[in-house]
Amino acid sequence: MKWSDLALAHVFAAADRIRPLVRRTPLVPSDALADACGARSVHLKLESLQNTGAFKVRGASNRILTLTDDERARGVITFSTGNHGKAVAFVAGQTGIPAVVCVSKHVPDYRVATIRRLGAEVVVKGASQDEAEVEYARLVEERNLVPVVPFDDPYIIAGQATVGLEMLADRPELDLLLVPLSGGGLLAGVALAAKLINPAIRVVGVSISQSPAMLESLKAGKPVAVPEKDTLADSLLGGIGVTNEFTLPLVAHFADDHVEIDESEIERALYFAMKQHSLVIEGAAAVGIAALQTGKVNAAGKSVGIVLSGSSIELAQYIGVIRKFVEANGEA
Ligand SMILES: *Cc1c(COP(=O)(O)O)cnc(C)c1O
Repeated sequence: MKWSDLALAHVFAAADRIRPLVRRTPLVPSDALADACGARSVHLKLESLQNTGAFKVRGASNRILTLTDDERARGVITFSTGNHGKAVAFVAGQTGIPAVVCVSKHVPDYRVATIRRLGAEVVVKGASQDEAEVEYARLVEERNLVPVVPFDDPYIIAGQATVGLEMLADRPELDLLLVPLSGGGLLAGVALAAKLINPAIRVVGVSISQSPAMLESLKAGKPVAVPEKDTLADSLLGGIGVTNEFTLPLVAHFADDHVEIDESEIERALYFAMKQHSLVIEGAAAVGIAALQTGKVNAAGKSVGIVLSGSSIELAQYIGVIRKFVEANGEA
């Protein structure tokens, strides 16, 4: 399959296939955010409440449920900054398929523990996601495992696209979507689904300035590696893969615009979600809120949908951020 062969039919097929393993998450209004940025309305898609705590279970289920009997028997393998690994471990556990997950040593211990608990074997190796990928490639050969990649795969993209399908089913009037962007599986899928349903919708990718791998790659017209730095949005770290075939061209084709968010802006958005909505989300999930709060995306008069992509955040780090704002504002 080529990137341009992906169609709405693949997204509807994915939605049917993954239903038993995936929650239909709520799409809730944020009047506070709408007032703050002059939007007609703002709705938050709570993938933070998704099974395993992130939307990644959608793509992982769509890929694993389309494996052949022979592939199921061999077992699957992936590398991941965390949420994709968790999703693969969950789906493999639910469907009785053996799974190996390779992670870099940047991935927090609590995430590694969770992946093990879900039933996968975890291999910790390398200082970056790219180095974890080298170990993964070695194990694919040595143990004849079936790769389930985090984003650059049409089944993964069609699975993530079901986020967009649900948003438009619930709120057909949405005309601006803000989507966190790292490897681009989520943005490619949501933008594809949204644009094929309603070509007038604008879809904006939200990257972190700490590691804007997709943005650099779009500028260069080919995959570009960027250095990894510590960030609150660790789920957005990592390159787009040197052999990228799907997400780079899909994002180039379907995304209308891009913005970058920095660390202090992520912190403020995390605090907003807690204070206004009692929502615990992770840094990566907060970037869409930050795009509105900072005015980097002009939402005046728009019906905005924001994907809050996950909730896997280390408790001490999270509490540290919230405490800082509470103390600065003098709240009890
Ligand atoms: C993976 C992930 C993203 C980014 O998705 P891509 O498909 O890599 O662009 C955003 N937020 C969370 C919580 C994630 O786990």
